[in-house]
Amino acid sequence: MDINFCQNCGGGVEERIPPGDDRNRAVCARCGRVYYQNPIMVVGCIPLWEESVLLCRRDIEPCRGLWTLPAGYLENGETVEEGAMRETWEETRARVELIAPYRLFNITFVNQIYMMFLANLGNRDFGPTPESSEVRLFKEAEIPWNELAFTVIHETLRHFFEDRKNNRFPFSVQEIEKSGLNLEPNN
Ligand SMILES: [Zn+2]
Repeated sequence: MDINFCQNCGGGVEERIPPGDDRNRAVCARCGRVYYQNPIMVVGCIPLWEESVLLCRRDIEPCRGLWTLPAGYLENGETVEEGAMRETWEETRARVELIAPYRLFNITFVNQIYMMFLANLGNRDFGPTPESSEVRLFKEAEIPWNELAFTVIHETLRHFFEDRKNNRFPFSVQEIEKSGLNLEPNN
């Protein structure tokens, strides 16, 4: 999200270090307003039903046609729990009950933070939505590992099935490195 013109005075915005700051910001050359840009929070979940997890096939860019866990941008005024449930509804038409926070991923090279919960489906009411052409349950052996949309989704599912061997799902903070699987659309 590049800002070229000041929303306050219409002046040109340039990169420079504001007085008292220690890093480059987008600053209006005319009135001096500083446009802070900070990481975006993405919230989602692993919806569980018996032995299976619910995935959706993206019908929007980026990565249209690839499979993902329901996740999306947190909205202003929303808790991370509310956001994860809303995104799940928007992408799968499932009403989930969150069980626990599971993974937080720092993805510094695209300035994103992913907060993923474990969730219970409760019933089999789900289906396609304007954002998802297909929504279905996958057992571990059926996961389309080579058709997953993003590295962070790949890693979330890999960790989950690893943890499931011990039936323990401790929360942890992880990093996604740019040199990883290179599935991020913004690489
Ligand atoms: Zn200005």
